[in-house]
Amino acid sequence: MRAVVFDRYGGPAEVREVPDPRPAPHGVVVRVEATGLCRSDWHGWMGHDPDIALPHVPGHELAGVVEEAGAEVTGARPGDRVTVPFVCACGRCPSCAAGDQQVCERQTQPGFTHWGSFAHYVALDHADVNLVTVPDDMAYTTAAALGCRFATAFRAVVQRGRVAAGEWVSVYGCGGVGLSAVMIAAAAGARVVAVDVSPRALDLARGFGAAHCVDAAAGDDPAAAVRELTGGGSHLSLDALGSPATAAASVGSLRRRGRHVQVGLLPSPDGTTPVPLARALALELELLGSHGMAAHAYPGMLELVRAGTLRPDLLVTSTITLDAAPRALAAMDGAPGAGVTVIEPWA
Ligand SMILES: [Zn+2]
Ligand SMILES: [Zn+2]
Repeated sequence: MRAVVFDRYGGPAEVREVPDPRPAPHGVVVRVEATGLCRSDWHGWMGHDPDIALPHVPGHELAGVVEEAGAEVTGARPGDRVTVPFVCACGRCPSCAAGDQQVCERQTQPGFTHWGSFAHYVALDHADVNLVTVPDDMAYTTAAALGCRFATAFRAVVQRGRVAAGEWVSVYGCGGVGLSAVMIAAAAGARVVAVDVSPRALDLARGFGAAHCVDAAAGDDPAAAVRELTGGGSHLSLDALGSPATAAASVGSLRRRGRHVQVGLLPSPDGTTPVPLARALALELELLGSHGMAAHAYPGMLELVRAGTLRPDLLVTSTITLDAAPRALAAMDGAPGAGVTVIEPWA
């Protein structure tokens, strides 16, 4: 099959022929019809993820058709339209037993722990735990955005963030996760303040329901701007970008007893990130992490998509071929682009 491969971190990524994957007894091989290009892929390529072994094929936001199922798989058969959460759970550990597959203790992640979906085919583990049926009327390009960004934002806003109608919600970073969070929070009846350094990203956020936009490149203190716009601070704030500055600003945006949800990855040399913990203490803030969403939690989100309340299709701003993927991956250096780019490996 053809796949995007890199042999060293930050080195050239190229499309070349590699062996087709084989399914594990509990897994499947999926023919990849669409796969999103995500900042996490860029982090992996740059060597920020210790799970990655070289050479490597990135890609973790995929949708496609089951090509082959392992002998132990009972819930999937060739021809099924499927997607997966980017965290593929084992189904057996204590976290999985508690229904918390998104923090599975033996999780695998396509594009990180093994070769991913910037390829014609991808192997997925524990298919009966992780496969989600893609509705017949949903395009593969739309479904590809669900597994990482949209589902991650949904859990962060709805389940971890406990958004409520009428609340103020600030969203730092309006890439794929952030724009999804803006849309989901607005659909829940919250008043959303979007923060980004890109005017184009803020335009998209406005289109997805943001009541106010803060241009963080303007030089002012964005947290102060959010507190002013919201009459004292947000009830819920998300760092959807993942940087020390945006994490601290998100916490700094909250009113008393507000909730911060960290949803953007925060790589750092020593694995720690400074946050204003004294403010969390004095204002009784909640500091929460959010890590993907389990397959069993998809139906509630998909029902809102079916009803037209949520429109993940609107997030997809461009589609590209596999051959264009290496250059697009390299172009994610620096600030994330506005909207979501989806690769169609067979195009
Ligand atoms: Zn992703
Ligand atoms: Zn598990």
